[in-house]
Amino acid sequence: MNRRQLLRTTGLGLVGGAVAHAGVASKADALPEKSQPKPLSLADYEPKSMLQVRETHVERARFPVIDIHTHISFSAKSQNGIELSPECSYQGTPKELLAVMDRKNIRSMVNLTGGYGAGLAETVNKYDRAHRDRFYTFTVPSYADLLKPDYPKLQAQAIEEAHRNGARGLKILKTLGLYLRDNITSGKLVKIDDPRFDPMWDTCGQLNMPVAIHVSDPIAFFTPTDRFNERYEELNNHPDWSFYGGDFPSNAELLDARNRVFARHPKTRFIVLHVGNFSENLANVSENLDRFTNMNVDIAARIGELGRQPRTARSFFEKYQDRILFGTDATPHGDEYPQQVFNDQLYEIYYRFLETDDEYFDYAPAKVPPQGRWRIYGINLSESILSKVYNGNAARELHLTV
Ligand SMILES: [Zn+2]
Repeated sequence: MNRRQLLRTTGLGLVGGAVAHAGVASKADALPEKSQPKPLSLADYEPKSMLQVRETHVERARFPVIDIHTHISFSAKSQNGIELSPECSYQGTPKELLAVMDRKNIRSMVNLTGGYGAGLAETVNKYDRAHRDRFYTFTVPSYADLLKPDYPKLQAQAIEEAHRNGARGLKILKTLGLYLRDNITSGKLVKIDDPRFDPMWDTCGQLNMPVAIHVSDPIAFFTPTDRFNERYEELNNHPDWSFYGGDFPSNAELLDARNRVFARHPKTRFIVLHVGNFSENLANVSENLDRFTNMNVDIAARIGELGRQPRTARSFFEKYQDRILFGTDATPHGDEYPQQVFNDQLYEIYYRFLETDDEYFDYAPAKVPPQGRWRIYGINLSESILSKVYNGNAARELHLTV
């Protein structure tokens, strides 16, 4: 009988591992084969929760929904992350989208990336005009013209033209701040508060067109993709999403430049996407909402963040109930990104998060949580807050009657 067997027979087997660690025998010698650790790659790990708690199935939203943040179309041509074509490629037909919308009580989808110039006119005709009040389209800047000497004026005129063609607002992608460069695709990064865009921001204010702006990205994308990164798998799957190192500004520098734009254009209304792009720090978002009365936020692709801090999130919704808009970032056939794929399940998860106090459920329709390995908790908002978040706040910003 060796030492280990002796321990087991005396009822002290549990400490056997510790004895082995202490150098009495190597681990492999000491442990029977069954209890030896087996390697398992992180990518293959799909734990199923054993927790038995209530599961509420919220098939339809309590109030008609305006989804302020969707992508039904994209620029037909882009290079180094910069959209270079006025024309769009379309991700879904009105018919297939309307089927989901009707099932899920979605009154309207706002397609933020509707192109510009002739491309925008085509998008508006295909969706907004063909199905009134079911689709609204935003325009995007024509960065391809950036090097023209009169770009500031041209861009302001392009906004006026887009308004005449039916655009409801302007979308700024994270292109500004993280991709667009002095020579468009090369050179130094162009700053978010570059004065060349001032006439564009002002024109949006004059025409009552809200600016839906995406600045920066999750804070984990600005730290090394290593074993300490809570979004390691996501960044490992999409290395180009990392803004760590290189000549990228910090998250704080990006948000500061953005805030200077808000301060300089108080008559322009901004919908700051992805919970002000700092859902990991709602104190920061609150501070900015207090500071800038022209700022609102949407919740698109961030219920994973909001739902892992349900008490803080609920207070945030209570305090800023007039400033938060429902959005998802939904993209038809965007299967590669389950947190924003346009389908019934995605909307049911959002509704469950907002309307129930269910515990510990998936924030995306995926086998493994795609934005970090955790699950979320519902925040059970009151009817009056739900109605503002689902449509009231968006209707006010878009000048609609629901
Ligand atoms: Zn988006």
